[in-house]
Amino acid sequence: MALTGELFIGRRRLSTAQRFQAVDPTRGETLETAFSAAGTAELEAACTLAHTAFDPYRNLPPLRRADFLEAIARHILALGDALLERAHRETALPLARLTGERARTVGQLQLFAAELRAGEWLGLRVDPALPQRTPAPRPDLRLRKIPCGPVAVFGASNFPLAFSVAGGDSAAALAAGCPIVVKGHPAHPGTSEWVAQAIAAAAAETDMPDGVFSLLHGPDTALGAALVADARIRAVAFTGSRAGGLALMKIAAARPEPIPVYAEMSSINPVVLLPAALAARSESLAREFVASLTLGVGQFCTNPGLVLALEGDGLQRFIEAAGAALAAVSPAVMLTEGIQRNYIRGVERLWTGGAELLAQGSAGTNNCARAALFSVTAASLAERPELAEETFGPASLLVRCRTLRELSETLERLEGQLTATVQMDPADLPLAQELLPTLEHKAGRIIVNSWPTGVEVCHAMVHGGPFPATSDGRSTSVGTLAIERFLRPVCYQGFADGLLPQELRAGELQRWPHRFDGERRLGRTE
Ligand code: NAP
Repeated sequence: MALTGELFIGRRRLSTAQRFQAVDPTRGETLETAFSAAGTAELEAACTLAHTAFDPYRNLPPLRRADFLEAIARHILALGDALLERAHRETALPLARLTGERARTVGQLQLFAAELRAGEWLGLRVDPALPQRTPAPRPDLRLRKIPCGPVAVFGASNFPLAFSVAGGDSAAALAAGCPIVVKGHPAHPGTSEWVAQAIAAAAAETDMPDGVFSLLHGPDTALGAALVADARIRAVAFTGSRAGGLALMKIAAARPEPIPVYAEMSSINPVVLLPAALAARSESLAREFVASLTLGVGQFCTNPGLVLALEGDGLQRFIEAAGAALAAVSPAVMLTEGIQRNYIRGVERLWTGGAELLAQGSAGTNNCARAALFSVTAASLAERPELAEETFGPASLLVRCRTLRELSETLERLEGQLTATVQMDPADLPLAQELLPTLEHKAGRIIVNSWPTGVEVCHAMVHGGPFPATSDGRSTSVGTLAIERFLRPVCYQGFADGLLPQELRAGELQRWPHRFDGERRLGRTE
Protein backbone atom coordinates (compact mmCIF):
# COMPACT_ATOMS: atom_id res chain seq x y z
CA MET A 1 0.00 0.00 0.00
CA ALA A 2 1.38 3.42 -0.93
CA LEU A 3 1.16 6.68 0.98
CA THR A 4 -1.04 9.27 -0.70
CA GLY A 5 -0.55 12.34 1.52
CA GLU A 6 -4.32 12.77 1.73
CA LEU A 7 -6.37 13.94 4.69
CA PHE A 8 -9.07 11.63 6.11
CA ILE A 9 -12.37 13.47 6.49
CA GLY A 10 -14.65 10.69 7.65
CA ARG A 11 -14.88 8.30 4.69
CA ARG A 12 -13.54 10.90 2.24
CA ARG A 13 -9.90 11.41 1.32
CA LEU A 14 -8.85 14.91 0.35
CA SER A 15 -5.80 16.66 -1.02
CA THR A 16 -5.09 20.35 -0.54
CA ALA A 17 -2.69 22.74 -2.22
CA GLN A 18 -0.63 23.39 0.90
CA ARG A 19 1.81 20.53 1.45
CA PHE A 20 4.57 19.53 3.85
CA GLN A 21 7.04 16.66 4.06
CA ALA A 22 8.42 14.63 6.93
CA VAL A 23 12.12 14.89 7.75
CA ASP A 24 14.35 11.93 8.50
CA PRO A 25 15.94 13.06 11.80
CA THR A 26 19.01 10.87 11.27
CA ARG A 27 20.00 12.27 7.86
CA GLY A 28 18.17 15.57 7.90
CA GLU A 29 16.66 14.74 4.49
CA THR A 30 13.02 15.20 3.54
CA LEU A 31 11.16 11.94 3.04
CA GLU A 32 9.05 11.08 -0.01
CA THR A 33 5.31 11.93 -0.09
CA ALA A 34 4.00 15.43 0.32
CA PHE A 35 1.20 15.60 2.87
CA SER A 36 -1.83 17.86 2.57
CA ALA A 37 -2.35 20.45 5.26
CA ALA A 38 -5.90 21.09 6.41
CA GLY A 39 -7.44 24.53 6.28
CA THR A 40 -10.67 25.93 7.64
CA ALA A 41 -12.85 24.02 5.14
CA GLU A 42 -11.34 20.63 6.01
CA LEU A 43 -11.56 21.32 9.74
CA GLU A 44 -15.19 22.36 9.34
CA ALA A 45 -16.00 19.20 7.35
CA ALA A 46 -14.31 16.88 9.88
CA CYS A 47 -16.04 18.49 12.89
CA THR A 48 -19.45 18.51 11.15
CA LEU A 49 -19.10 14.80 10.35
CA ALA A 50 -17.92 13.97 13.89
CA HIS A 51 -20.93 15.82 15.29
CA THR A 52 -23.31 13.98 12.92
CA ALA A 53 -21.72 10.62 13.74
CA PHE A 54 -21.93 11.13 17.51
CA ASP A 55 -25.50 9.93 18.20
CA PRO A 56 -25.45 6.98 15.77
CA TYR A 57 -22.04 5.91 17.12
CA ARG A 58 -22.80 6.25 20.80
CA ASN A 59 -26.11 4.43 20.38
CA LEU A 60 -24.48 1.36 18.85
CA PRO A 61 -24.44 -1.60 21.25
CA PRO A 62 -21.09 -1.47 23.14
CA LEU A 63 -20.21 -4.85 21.67
CA ARG A 64 -20.25 -3.33 18.18
CA ARG A 65 -17.74 -0.73 19.28
CA ALA A 66 -15.62 -3.54 20.74
CA ASP A 67 -15.66 -5.25 17.33
CA PHE A 68 -14.54 -1.96 15.73
CA LEU A 69 -11.57 -1.59 18.12
CA GLU A 70 -10.49 -5.18 17.51
CA ALA A 71 -10.77 -4.67 13.75
CA ILE A 72 -8.49 -1.60 14.02
CA ALA A 73 -5.93 -3.76 15.86
CA ARG A 74 -6.09 -6.43 13.12
CA HIS A 75 -5.73 -3.89 10.31
CA ILE A 76 -2.71 -2.29 12.03
CA LEU A 77 -1.01 -5.69 12.23
CA ALA A 78 -1.91 -6.34 8.60
CA LEU A 79 0.15 -3.28 7.58
CA GLY A 80 3.19 -5.41 8.38
CA ASP A 81 6.75 -4.19 8.59
CA ALA A 82 6.21 -1.30 6.15
CA LEU A 83 4.52 0.60 8.97
CA LEU A 84 7.49 0.05 11.29
CA GLU A 85 10.00 0.98 8.62
CA ARG A 86 8.26 4.27 7.84
CA ALA A 87 7.96 5.02 11.58
CA HIS A 88 11.67 4.29 11.96
CA ARG A 89 12.59 6.69 9.16
CA GLU A 90 10.34 9.43 10.55
CA THR A 91 11.37 9.14 14.22
CA ALA A 92 14.79 7.42 14.33
CA LEU A 93 13.33 5.08 16.96
CA PRO A 94 14.86 1.60 16.57
CA LEU A 95 12.78 -1.09 14.87
CA ALA A 96 12.82 -3.25 18.02
CA ARG A 97 11.30 -0.42 20.05
CA LEU A 98 8.68 0.22 17.34
CA THR A 99 7.81 -3.48 17.22
CA GLY A 100 7.13 -3.32 20.96
CA GLU A 101 5.18 -0.12 20.55
CA ARG A 102 2.97 -1.68 17.87
CA ALA A 103 2.26 -4.59 20.22
CA ARG A 104 1.31 -2.10 22.92
CA THR A 105 -0.94 -0.19 20.52
CA VAL A 106 -2.74 -3.34 19.41
CA GLY A 107 -2.92 -4.54 23.03
CA GLN A 108 -4.51 -1.24 24.13
CA LEU A 109 -7.22 -1.51 21.50
CA GLN A 110 -7.93 -5.11 22.51
CA LEU A 111 -7.95 -4.20 26.20
CA PHE A 112 -10.56 -1.47 25.62
CA ALA A 113 -12.63 -3.93 23.55
CA ALA A 114 -12.60 -6.33 26.52
CA GLU A 115 -13.48 -3.43 28.82
CA LEU A 116 -16.48 -2.58 26.67
CA ARG A 117 -17.69 -6.17 26.91
CA ALA A 118 -17.21 -6.26 30.70
CA GLY A 119 -19.46 -3.21 31.09
CA GLU A 120 -18.20 -1.75 34.39
CA TRP A 121 -17.49 1.50 32.55
CA LEU A 122 -21.25 2.03 32.12
CA GLY A 123 -21.40 2.73 35.87
CA LEU A 124 -24.99 1.46 36.07
CA ARG A 125 -26.88 2.17 39.31
CA VAL A 126 -30.51 1.61 40.13
CA ASP A 127 -32.32 2.91 43.20
CA PRO A 128 -35.82 1.46 42.75
CA ALA A 129 -38.89 3.46 43.64
CA LEU A 130 -40.04 3.33 47.28
CA PRO A 131 -43.65 4.51 46.93
CA GLN A 132 -44.49 3.66 50.56
CA ARG A 133 -41.50 5.44 52.08
CA THR A 134 -42.35 8.08 54.68
CA PRO A 135 -42.24 10.94 55.09
CA ALA A 136 -41.71 11.13 51.29
CA PRO A 137 -41.79 8.37 48.68
CA ARG A 138 -38.70 7.80 46.53
CA PRO A 139 -39.01 7.83 42.74
CA ASP A 140 -37.25 5.25 40.54
CA LEU A 141 -33.71 6.54 39.87
CA ARG A 142 -31.30 5.01 37.37
CA LEU A 143 -27.83 6.15 36.36
CA ARG A 144 -25.54 5.36 33.46
CA LYS A 145 -22.52 7.05 31.94
CA ILE A 146 -22.72 8.44 28.44
CA PRO A 147 -19.94 9.69 26.14
CA CYS A 148 -19.20 13.41 26.15
CA GLY A 149 -19.12 14.00 22.37
CA PRO A 150 -16.45 14.32 19.65
CA VAL A 151 -12.89 14.36 21.02
CA ALA A 152 -9.85 16.14 19.56
CA VAL A 153 -6.79 13.90 19.88
CA PHE A 154 -3.28 15.32 19.44
CA GLY A 155 -0.74 12.74 18.26
CA ALA A 156 2.40 12.70 20.43
CA SER A 157 5.86 12.91 18.88
CA ASN A 158 7.45 10.40 21.24
CA PHE A 159 4.95 7.55 20.71
CA PRO A 160 4.24 7.49 16.95
CA LEU A 161 2.03 4.43 17.42
CA ALA A 162 0.99 4.01 21.07
CA PHE A 163 0.07 7.69 21.64
CA SER A 164 -0.72 8.85 18.15
CA VAL A 165 -3.52 8.22 15.64
CA ALA A 166 -4.76 4.89 17.10
CA GLY A 167 -3.01 5.27 20.44
CA GLY A 168 -4.26 5.21 24.00
CA ASP A 169 -6.27 8.45 23.81
CA SER A 170 -8.00 7.40 20.57
CA ALA A 171 -8.77 3.92 21.92
CA ALA A 172 -10.26 5.34 25.14
CA ALA A 173 -12.39 7.93 23.31
CA LEU A 174 -13.65 5.49 20.66
CA ALA A 175 -14.44 2.94 23.39
CA ALA A 176 -16.42 5.57 25.31
CA GLY A 177 -18.54 6.22 22.20
CA CYS A 178 -16.88 9.46 21.07
CA PRO A 179 -15.99 10.13 17.43
CA ILE A 180 -12.41 11.43 17.15
CA VAL A 181 -10.76 14.13 15.06
CA VAL A 182 -7.02 13.51 15.23
CA LYS A 183 -4.46 16.28 14.74
CA GLY A 184 -1.48 14.26 13.49
CA HIS A 185 1.98 15.11 14.79
CA PRO A 186 3.92 16.74 11.94
CA ALA A 187 7.03 14.65 12.67
CA HIS A 188 5.46 11.35 11.54
CA PRO A 189 2.72 12.00 8.94
CA GLY A 190 3.42 8.81 6.95
CA THR A 191 3.05 6.62 10.05
CA SER A 192 -0.15 8.54 10.85
CA GLU A 193 -1.55 7.99 7.36
CA TRP A 194 -0.97 4.26 7.44
CA VAL A 195 -2.61 3.90 10.82
CA ALA A 196 -5.48 6.07 9.54
CA GLN A 197 -5.87 3.64 6.62
CA ALA A 198 -6.18 0.82 9.17
CA ILE A 199 -8.88 2.71 11.11
CA ALA A 200 -10.75 3.56 7.90
CA ALA A 201 -10.66 -0.09 6.79
CA ALA A 202 -11.88 -1.24 10.23
CA ALA A 203 -14.69 1.35 10.18
CA ALA A 204 -15.84 0.10 6.76
CA GLU A 205 -15.59 -3.57 7.79
CA THR A 206 -17.65 -3.05 10.97
CA ASP A 207 -20.07 -0.56 9.36
CA MET A 208 -19.34 2.41 11.60
CA PRO A 209 -21.06 5.76 10.94
CA ASP A 210 -19.31 8.18 8.59
CA GLY A 211 -17.32 10.70 10.64
CA VAL A 212 -16.37 8.46 13.54
CA PHE A 213 -12.75 9.15 12.60
CA SER A 214 -10.91 11.96 10.79
CA LEU A 215 -7.21 12.73 10.51
CA LEU A 216 -6.01 16.27 9.87
CA HIS A 217 -2.52 17.63 9.44
CA GLY A 218 -1.61 21.28 9.87
CA PRO A 219 1.30 23.47 8.86
CA ASP A 220 1.42 25.27 12.22
CA THR A 221 -0.37 25.53 15.56
CA ALA A 222 -3.35 27.35 14.01
CA LEU A 223 -5.08 24.08 13.05
CA GLY A 224 -4.84 22.58 16.55
CA ALA A 225 -6.00 25.85 18.09
CA ALA A 226 -9.04 26.03 15.75
CA LEU A 227 -9.86 22.38 16.46
CA VAL A 228 -9.96 22.97 20.23
CA ALA A 229 -12.05 26.11 19.72
CA ASP A 230 -14.64 24.32 17.52
CA ALA A 231 -17.99 24.16 19.31
CA ARG A 232 -18.59 20.56 18.17
CA ILE A 233 -15.48 19.28 19.99
CA ARG A 234 -16.35 18.28 23.58
CA ALA A 235 -12.97 17.20 25.04
CA VAL A 236 -9.28 17.27 24.16
CA ALA A 237 -6.52 14.68 24.69
CA PHE A 238 -2.92 15.86 24.35
CA THR A 239 0.62 14.69 25.13
CA GLY A 240 3.48 17.11 24.56
CA SER A 241 5.09 20.26 25.88
CA ARG A 242 3.89 22.30 28.81
CA ALA A 243 3.64 25.37 26.57
CA GLY A 244 1.46 23.45 24.08
CA GLY A 245 -0.77 21.96 26.78
CA LEU A 246 -1.22 25.31 28.51
CA ALA A 247 -2.09 27.01 25.20
CA LEU A 248 -4.79 24.41 24.49
CA MET A 249 -6.16 24.68 28.06
CA LYS A 250 -6.44 28.43 27.62
CA ILE A 251 -8.31 28.11 24.32
CA ALA A 252 -10.67 25.49 25.79
CA ALA A 253 -11.38 27.62 28.86
CA ALA A 254 -12.09 30.74 26.77
CA ARG A 255 -14.79 29.05 24.64
CA PRO A 256 -18.38 30.19 25.26
CA GLU A 257 -18.83 26.63 26.55
CA PRO A 258 -15.50 25.53 28.07
CA ILE A 259 -14.46 21.89 27.64
CA PRO A 260 -11.99 19.66 29.51
CA VAL A 261 -8.44 19.32 28.18
CA TYR A 262 -6.62 16.19 29.30
CA ALA A 263 -3.05 17.29 28.71
CA GLU A 264 -0.03 15.25 29.77
CA MET A 265 2.74 17.85 29.84
CA SER A 266 5.88 17.73 31.94
CA SER A 267 7.31 15.64 34.72
CA ILE A 268 10.79 15.04 36.12
CA ASN A 269 9.83 11.86 38.00
CA PRO A 270 11.88 12.12 41.22
CA VAL A 271 13.75 9.02 42.40
CA VAL A 272 14.64 8.79 46.11
CA LEU A 273 17.63 6.60 46.99
CA LEU A 274 17.25 5.67 50.67
CA PRO A 275 20.39 5.03 52.77
CA ALA A 276 20.19 1.26 53.36
CA ALA A 277 19.51 0.64 49.66
CA LEU A 278 22.45 2.88 48.73
CA ALA A 279 24.74 1.15 51.23
CA ALA A 280 23.81 -2.31 49.95
CA ARG A 281 23.63 -1.81 46.18
CA SER A 282 24.85 1.60 45.05
CA GLU A 283 26.65 0.22 41.96
CA SER A 284 23.68 -1.77 40.62
CA LEU A 285 21.33 1.13 41.38
CA ALA A 286 23.63 3.40 39.37
CA ARG A 287 23.65 1.07 36.37
CA GLU A 288 19.87 0.61 36.46
CA PHE A 289 19.39 4.37 36.81
CA VAL A 290 21.53 5.13 33.74
CA ALA A 291 19.69 2.46 31.74
CA SER A 292 16.33 4.07 32.65
CA LEU A 293 17.64 7.61 32.02
CA THR A 294 18.93 6.82 28.55
CA LEU A 295 16.18 4.45 27.39
CA GLY A 296 14.66 5.78 24.16
CA VAL A 297 17.20 8.68 24.27
CA GLY A 298 15.43 9.86 27.42
CA GLN A 299 12.35 10.79 25.38
CA PHE A 300 9.83 9.41 27.83
CA CYS A 301 7.51 11.45 30.00
CA THR A 302 8.49 9.08 32.83
CA ASN A 303 12.23 9.71 32.44
CA PRO A 304 14.01 9.94 35.85
CA GLY A 305 15.06 13.62 35.65
CA LEU A 306 15.69 14.12 39.39
CA VAL A 307 17.46 11.90 41.94
CA LEU A 308 17.47 12.67 45.67
CA ALA A 309 19.76 11.08 48.23
CA LEU A 310 21.45 11.71 51.56
CA GLU A 311 25.16 12.61 51.49
CA GLY A 312 27.49 9.74 52.42
CA ASP A 313 29.73 6.93 51.16
CA GLY A 314 26.83 5.14 49.47
CA LEU A 315 25.96 8.22 47.43
CA GLN A 316 29.62 8.71 46.49
CA ARG A 317 29.83 5.14 45.17
CA PHE A 318 26.54 5.69 43.29
CA ILE A 319 27.97 8.82 41.62
CA GLU A 320 31.15 7.03 40.55
CA ALA A 321 29.28 4.05 39.13
CA ALA A 322 26.67 6.25 37.39
CA GLY A 323 29.49 8.36 35.91
CA ALA A 324 31.22 5.24 34.53
CA ALA A 325 27.96 3.88 33.11
CA LEU A 326 27.06 7.25 31.58
CA ALA A 327 30.49 7.67 29.97
CA ALA A 328 29.84 4.42 28.09
CA VAL A 329 26.54 5.71 26.64
CA SER A 330 26.70 6.40 22.91
CA PRO A 331 24.98 9.46 21.49
CA ALA A 332 21.64 8.75 19.84
CA VAL A 333 19.40 10.61 17.43
CA MET A 334 16.42 12.44 18.91
CA LEU A 335 12.90 12.49 17.43
CA THR A 336 13.09 15.91 15.83
CA GLU A 337 15.48 18.79 15.38
CA GLY A 338 13.21 20.93 17.60
CA ILE A 339 13.30 18.40 20.43
CA GLN A 340 17.09 18.19 20.18
CA ARG A 341 17.34 22.01 20.28
CA ASN A 342 15.13 22.06 23.38
CA TYR A 343 17.34 19.39 24.96
CA ILE A 344 20.51 21.38 24.37
CA ARG A 345 18.78 24.44 25.85
CA GLY A 346 17.73 22.42 28.90
CA VAL A 347 21.25 21.14 29.50
CA GLU A 348 22.62 24.69 29.14
CA ARG A 349 20.04 25.91 31.65
CA LEU A 350 21.34 23.38 34.19
CA TRP A 351 24.90 24.40 33.45
CA THR A 352 24.46 28.13 33.58
CA GLY A 353 22.09 27.79 36.55
CA GLY A 354 24.99 26.56 38.68
CA ALA A 355 24.49 22.77 38.64
CA GLU A 356 27.74 20.78 38.68
CA LEU A 357 28.30 18.46 35.71
CA LEU A 358 29.13 15.01 37.15
CA ALA A 359 29.30 12.92 33.99
CA GLN A 360 28.43 12.87 30.31
CA GLY A 361 27.95 10.32 27.56
CA SER A 362 29.92 10.64 24.38
CA ALA A 363 29.12 13.46 21.96
CA GLY A 364 27.47 12.93 18.58
CA THR A 365 26.57 14.83 15.47
CA ASN A 366 23.34 15.92 13.76
CA ASN A 367 20.27 15.43 15.94
CA CYS A 368 22.08 13.47 18.64
CA ALA A 369 21.63 13.91 22.38
CA ARG A 370 24.57 13.61 24.74
CA ALA A 371 23.45 12.06 28.04
CA ALA A 372 24.33 14.11 31.14
CA LEU A 373 24.18 13.89 34.93
CA PHE A 374 24.33 17.07 37.01
CA SER A 375 24.33 17.62 40.74
CA VAL A 376 23.20 20.35 43.09
CA THR A 377 22.77 20.67 46.85
CA ALA A 378 19.25 20.72 48.24
CA ALA A 379 19.95 24.22 49.60
CA SER A 380 20.94 25.53 46.13
CA LEU A 381 17.89 23.93 44.51
CA ALA A 382 15.68 25.69 47.05
CA GLU A 383 17.15 29.00 45.84
CA ARG A 384 16.94 28.09 42.14
CA PRO A 385 13.82 25.93 41.68
CA GLU A 386 13.94 26.47 37.88
CA LEU A 387 16.75 23.85 37.83
CA ALA A 388 14.04 21.25 38.45
CA GLU A 389 12.15 22.07 35.23
CA GLU A 390 11.83 19.21 32.73
CA THR A 391 14.73 18.71 30.32
CA PHE A 392 13.15 16.34 27.79
CA GLY A 393 15.94 13.88 26.98
CA PRO A 394 18.68 11.89 28.75
CA ALA A 395 19.66 14.48 31.41
CA SER A 396 19.13 14.21 35.15
CA LEU A 397 19.87 16.26 38.25
CA LEU A 398 21.13 14.65 41.45
CA VAL A 399 20.11 16.51 44.62
CA ARG A 400 22.46 16.05 47.58
CA CYS A 401 20.63 16.31 50.89
CA ARG A 402 22.25 16.66 54.31
CA THR A 403 19.28 15.41 56.30
CA LEU A 404 16.07 13.51 55.73
CA ARG A 405 14.24 16.69 56.56
CA GLU A 406 16.05 18.51 53.77
CA LEU A 407 15.17 15.67 51.39
CA SER A 408 11.54 15.72 52.44
CA GLU A 409 11.33 19.53 52.09
CA THR A 410 12.85 19.30 48.60
CA LEU A 411 10.14 16.81 47.61
CA GLU A 412 7.46 19.07 49.07
CA ARG A 413 8.65 21.98 46.94
CA LEU A 414 8.45 19.98 43.67
CA GLU A 415 5.62 20.45 41.19
CA GLY A 416 3.15 17.65 40.45
CA GLN A 417 4.65 14.52 38.86
CA LEU A 418 3.57 11.50 36.86
CA THR A 419 5.69 9.23 39.04
CA ALA A 420 7.81 9.16 42.19
CA THR A 421 10.19 6.29 42.87
CA VAL A 422 11.72 5.00 46.10
CA GLN A 423 14.71 2.68 46.15
CA MET A 424 14.71 1.04 49.57
CA ASP A 425 15.87 -1.94 51.59
CA PRO A 426 13.95 -3.34 54.60
CA ALA A 427 15.93 -1.10 57.00
CA ASP A 428 14.65 1.97 55.10
CA LEU A 429 11.01 1.18 55.94
CA PRO A 430 10.51 3.92 58.60
CA LEU A 431 11.98 6.56 56.25
CA ALA A 432 9.82 5.38 53.35
CA GLN A 433 6.74 5.50 55.58
CA GLU A 434 7.59 9.07 56.54
CA LEU A 435 7.98 10.19 52.91
CA LEU A 436 4.91 8.39 51.55
CA PRO A 437 2.29 11.08 52.32
CA THR A 438 4.38 13.70 50.47
CA LEU A 439 4.84 11.34 47.51
CA GLU A 440 1.08 10.75 47.38
CA HIS A 441 0.50 14.52 47.25
CA LYS A 442 2.96 14.87 44.37
CA ALA A 443 2.56 11.91 42.02
CA GLY A 444 0.05 9.74 40.17
CA ARG A 445 2.15 6.54 40.49
CA ILE A 446 4.54 5.65 43.32
CA ILE A 447 7.11 3.00 42.49
CA VAL A 448 9.22 0.94 44.88
CA ASN A 449 12.47 -0.74 43.83
CA SER A 450 11.97 -0.37 40.13
CA TRP A 451 12.29 2.54 37.64
CA PRO A 452 9.67 4.89 36.23
CA THR A 453 10.22 4.20 32.52
CA GLY A 454 8.02 1.38 31.22
CA VAL A 455 4.31 1.93 31.79
CA GLU A 456 2.13 -1.18 32.05
CA VAL A 457 -1.17 -0.85 30.18
CA CYS A 458 -3.67 -2.44 32.56
CA HIS A 459 -6.61 -1.77 34.86
CA ALA A 460 -4.68 -0.46 37.88
CA MET A 461 -2.34 1.93 36.02
CA VAL A 462 -2.35 5.68 36.69
CA HIS A 463 -0.42 7.68 34.12
CA GLY A 464 -1.44 11.06 35.41
CA GLY A 465 -0.67 13.29 38.33
CA PRO A 466 -1.10 16.79 39.74
CA PHE A 467 -0.40 19.85 37.56
CA PRO A 468 1.82 20.33 35.58
CA ALA A 469 2.33 16.59 35.06
CA THR A 470 -1.20 16.76 33.70
CA SER A 471 -3.92 19.35 33.45
CA ASP A 472 -6.26 17.18 35.52
CA GLY A 473 -4.76 14.92 38.18
CA ARG A 474 -8.04 13.06 38.68
CA SER A 475 -7.51 10.94 35.59
CA THR A 476 -5.08 8.74 33.71
CA SER A 477 -4.15 8.58 30.03
CA VAL A 478 -2.92 4.96 30.19
CA GLY A 479 -4.99 1.94 31.21
CA THR A 480 -8.70 1.20 31.16
CA LEU A 481 -9.56 3.96 33.65
CA ALA A 482 -8.67 6.42 30.83
CA ILE A 483 -12.18 5.88 29.42
CA GLU A 484 -13.61 7.87 32.37
CA ARG A 485 -12.23 11.11 30.87
CA PHE A 486 -14.75 10.92 28.04
CA LEU A 487 -17.85 9.90 29.99
CA ARG A 488 -20.35 11.75 32.13
CA PRO A 489 -23.12 10.43 34.37
CA VAL A 490 -26.80 10.94 33.57
CA CYS A 491 -29.62 10.10 36.00
CA TYR A 492 -33.04 8.97 34.68
CA GLN A 493 -35.79 9.66 37.21
CA GLY A 494 -39.29 8.20 36.99
CA PHE A 495 -38.79 6.65 33.54
CA ALA A 496 -41.13 3.98 32.21
CA ASP A 497 -39.16 0.88 31.13
CA GLY A 498 -39.77 1.52 27.42
CA LEU A 499 -38.28 5.00 27.62
CA LEU A 500 -35.12 3.95 29.49
CA PRO A 501 -31.80 3.46 27.67
CA GLN A 502 -31.39 -0.19 26.70
CA GLU A 503 -28.88 -1.19 29.39
CA LEU A 504 -31.04 0.20 32.21
CA ARG A 505 -34.20 -1.69 31.20
CA ALA A 506 -35.46 -4.59 33.31
CA GLY A 507 -34.61 -7.23 30.71
CA GLU A 508 -31.10 -5.93 30.00
CA LEU A 509 -29.85 -4.71 33.39
CA GLN A 510 -28.89 -8.17 34.69
CA ARG A 511 -26.46 -8.53 31.82
CA TRP A 512 -24.20 -5.76 33.11
CA PRO A 513 -22.47 -5.20 36.46
CA HIS A 514 -24.47 -2.65 38.43
CA ARG A 515 -25.47 -1.46 41.89
CA PHE A 516 -29.06 -2.19 42.86
CA ASP A 517 -30.23 -0.22 45.89
CA GLY A 518 -26.56 0.16 46.83
CA GLU A 519 -25.78 -3.57 46.54
CA ARG A 520 -23.18 -4.69 43.99
CA ARG A 521 -24.39 -7.19 41.42
CA LEU A 522 -22.23 -8.95 38.89
CA GLY A 523 -23.25 -8.84 35.26
CA ARG A 524 -23.89 -11.82 33.05
CA THR A 525 -21.48 -10.76 30.29
CA GLU A 526 -21.06 -12.89 27.18
P1 NAP B 1 4.54 20.13 21.25
O1 NAP B 1 5.36 21.23 20.73
O2 NAP B 1 3.80 20.37 22.51
O3 NAP B 1 3.51 19.71 20.09
C1 NAP B 1 2.59 18.65 20.25
C2 NAP B 1 1.36 18.91 19.39
O4 NAP B 1 0.65 20.02 19.92
C3 NAP B 1 1.68 19.27 17.94
O5 NAP B 1 0.68 18.71 17.12
C4 NAP B 1 1.57 20.78 17.92
O6 NAP B 1 1.16 21.27 16.67
C5 NAP B 1 0.48 21.03 18.95
N1 NAP B 1 0.66 22.33 19.59
C6 NAP B 1 1.72 22.73 20.33
N2 NAP B 1 1.53 24.00 20.77
C7 NAP B 1 0.33 24.39 20.30
C8 NAP B 1 -0.42 25.60 20.41
N3 NAP B 1 0.05 26.65 21.05
N4 NAP B 1 -1.62 25.66 19.80
C9 NAP B 1 -2.10 24.61 19.11
N5 NAP B 1 -1.43 23.44 18.96
C10 NAP B 1 -0.23 23.33 19.55
O7 NAP B 1 5.40 18.82 21.50
P2 NAP B 1 6.49 18.09 20.60
O8 NAP B 1 6.46 18.62 19.22
O9 NAP B 1 6.24 16.66 20.75
O10 NAP B 1 7.89 18.36 21.29
C11 NAP B 1 8.31 19.61 21.76
C12 NAP B 1 8.64 19.52 23.23
O11 NAP B 1 7.54 18.97 23.95
C13 NAP B 1 9.79 18.59 23.61
O12 NAP B 1 11.04 19.18 23.45
C14 NAP B 1 9.49 18.27 25.05
O13 NAP B 1 9.99 19.26 25.89
C15 NAP B 1 8.00 18.27 25.11
N6 NAP B 1 7.40 16.91 25.12
C16 NAP B 1 7.06 16.39 26.31
C17 NAP B 1 6.50 15.14 26.36
C18 NAP B 1 6.09 14.54 27.66
O14 NAP B 1 5.60 13.44 27.65
N7 NAP B 1 6.25 15.22 28.77
C19 NAP B 1 6.30 14.39 25.19
C20 NAP B 1 6.66 14.96 23.97
C21 NAP B 1 7.21 16.23 23.96
P3 NAP B 1 2.23 21.70 15.53
O15 NAP B 1 3.28 20.69 15.54
O16 NAP B 1 1.42 21.76 14.30
O17 NAP B 1 2.77 23.01 15.94
